[in-house]
Amino acid sequence: MSIAENLARVRENIARAAEKAGRDPGDILLVGASKMNDAARVREAIAAGLPACGENRVQELLEKNAQGAYEGAELHFIGTLQRNKVKYLVGLARLIHSVDSVELMREIDRQARKRGLVQDILLEVNAAGEASKSGFAPEALPEMLAAASEFPGLRVRGLMTIPPICSAGMENLPYFLLLNKLFIDNGEKKYDNVRMDFLSMGMSGDYEAAISCGANMVRVGTAIFGPRAYPPGK
Ligand SMILES: *Cc1c(COP(=O)(O)O)cnc(C)c1O
Repeated sequence: MSIAENLARVRENIARAAEKAGRDPGDILLVGASKMNDAARVREAIAAGLPACGENRVQELLEKNAQGAYEGAELHFIGTLQRNKVKYLVGLARLIHSVDSVELMREIDRQARKRGLVQDILLEVNAAGEASKSGFAPEALPEMLAAASEFPGLRVRGLMTIPPICSAGMENLPYFLLLNKLFIDNGEKKYDNVRMDFLSMGMSGDYEAAISCGANMVRVGTAIFGPRAYPPGK
């Protein structure tokens, strides 16, 4: 199957899941998780209609960006972010999905104000409390939102989560539902620089389930680009 055929199928599935949930398919942004796919393959996906790309390594993003990989699409950062890499992303990434500490917010704020801009971010919730995963505990969300309101160089646009990997997408429903509840409940609280617009959840195995639980941003890699060829030992 070509990237264009894969993309068409994913978009059909998204449309069907959205309609089933009584939502407008046009309200759901498909972010192609393009890690380990070279600039040519990323361009192929964009030419076939992929509206946004998400990368999870800063180095790889910068290399592919220098090759013009993302022209015509939004560029998002979806991976674990180290503080010393923030300076490369601020102003380049339209949205940083994976912000999980006050220290990271402080550095994003600092770099954004230096450049005279406001960086859009999502806060990453560790819904299942897995020790191996990034993100903060659901209970810490109010604290994180209050902290965010102290940083004029950033704006919280919503929430993101990566639930446990499992074979059947439905097993993640409880986590998706929890995120949707946090998204709705905290959307009503008014902080100056917090607007709960985006709920980023769902990957190749479970994006339809995520959409049924309110996701309006899905991050899909394998189902668009095919299996990734991990180097030995990864
Ligand atoms: C790779 C990745 C995805 C997509 O994973 P697939 O299972 O290939 O769809 C989504 N989110 C993040 C943060 C990723 O790193």
